[in-house]
Amino acid sequence: MELRGKQVVVVGLAQTGIAVARFCHRRGARVVVTDGKPAAQLAERMAQLDGVPVTWQLGGHDLATFTSSDLVVMSPGVPTLPEMTAARAAGVEVIAEIELAYRCFHPGARLLAITGTNGKSTTTALAGALCAQSGRPSFCGGNLGNMPLIDAVDHAANVDGGLIVAEVAAFMLENCTSFAADAGVLTNVTADHLDRFGTMECYAEMKGRIWDWQRTDQVAIANAADPWVVQEAAGAPSQVLWFDSRPGADVAAGACLSADRTEIVLRAVPGAAAEERYPVDDLVIVGNHNLENAMGAYLAARSCGVSVDAIRAGARSYRPLPHRMEWIGEQDDIRFYDDSKGTNVASVAASVRGFPRPLVLIAGGVDKGGSYAAMLAALDGVCKGMVLIGAAAPLIRAAAAAHGATYPVLDAADMHEAVARAAALCVRGDAVVLSPACASYDMFQNYGHRGRVFREAAAAVGARRLDLAG
Ligand code: ADP
Repeated sequence: MELRGKQVVVVGLAQTGIAVARFCHRRGARVVVTDGKPAAQLAERMAQLDGVPVTWQLGGHDLATFTSSDLVVMSPGVPTLPEMTAARAAGVEVIAEIELAYRCFHPGARLLAITGTNGKSTTTALAGALCAQSGRPSFCGGNLGNMPLIDAVDHAANVDGGLIVAEVAAFMLENCTSFAADAGVLTNVTADHLDRFGTMECYAEMKGRIWDWQRTDQVAIANAADPWVVQEAAGAPSQVLWFDSRPGADVAAGACLSADRTEIVLRAVPGAAAEERYPVDDLVIVGNHNLENAMGAYLAARSCGVSVDAIRAGARSYRPLPHRMEWIGEQDDIRFYDDSKGTNVASVAASVRGFPRPLVLIAGGVDKGGSYAAMLAALDGVCKGMVLIGAAAPLIRAAAAAHGATYPVLDAADMHEAVARAAALCVRGDAVVLSPACASYDMFQNYGHRGRVFREAAAAVGARRLDLAG
């Protein structure tokens, strides 16, 4: 996309806005940066644009600037503004940062994009690990980590045959007009962020946009077990590859598990053999949800030409992201898993369903107003006890009683007590899992802090850090 001589309004001065401002300046544009916050609160971020000639419009937005510019680029996280509508009415294009990046990609670079309510980061990071073993230049970022997608444009991966892997949040797709991934993955759609999107229909429709602009030679990778995903896939203009982790699932084009669940089976992937089998043991990440994430990542990478050997090597090299079912230590063959990122009921249900060991769950924190039924159902058969913390404890206790749970449900005043009580319920071969299904802010700064305190508490009961390297 030609930016030379154009006036570009960059909306939102955070990491993405800073990257976009730098990028547009490098491309010869005149850059206006606007943010609702006043300069006094943005000094540190403004300093990151030292040396870049920028017109600042801070502490609010200037309507005339929006309507008289050539292009408006939205950062993720900025809400819909009246100035955007006015700019569009005046014929000014208003697009998301990922749309700008997309328009600047080399036509021969392959784009793998991942969205969904849960599992985005894991699927993206795993797909990135597979691509990194391919011998082709690759980039992994987007919403993930500290790598806005605009940074991929001037990255070595933006060449013919390069691989660009992007985590995409639903609200980024709101301001796209042509963003078309060669492999677009939709992991699942469950209730979250309804505050922003209003209804599940709107939220699902927004996520479905990951496929809306695809061509027929591209692939839509869809979770066959998720009714909202199935509904959205019906409208995909590209070739749909399904993944299905349910026992007995048999997928004609896509991925499923072998009957004994020891292999991921890929079928009819464009450019691959009719059937390919990958040992689940290549992966250290555990839980049914991670098999789903792996299937999504394998399908995306394989359909973009990553070889079988590179996929296997990438899978073996992959380690879980912090606080996502992270195996943090072991004591007397009792394993401790930190899933502090499990902040909603659907994510906990997915993490514990079919867990390979009997587990004691540590849950609780700030309740999010939904039902715990899905989590309790997923715990049946694997859960041997529960220890509750935080404000939601009475709600979860009542839900467990209503569900008819027969395992002990204990309370704890803090994380150290919770871990000690959970460990006391375990015998060799069991696991203590922190997967709280709640927000953390009643007792912790954020989910990362909660995970770190869990780790300290596990160390205090003797759990050793495992060296998972190699
Ligand atoms: P996101 O980036 O979408 O938040 P993550 O990969 O960071 O997803 O995982 C966050 C949490 O969501 C994990 O700790 C786990 O509890 C849960 N989770 C991960 N993958 C899935 C999945 N495929 N389906 C449902 N829940 C998942």
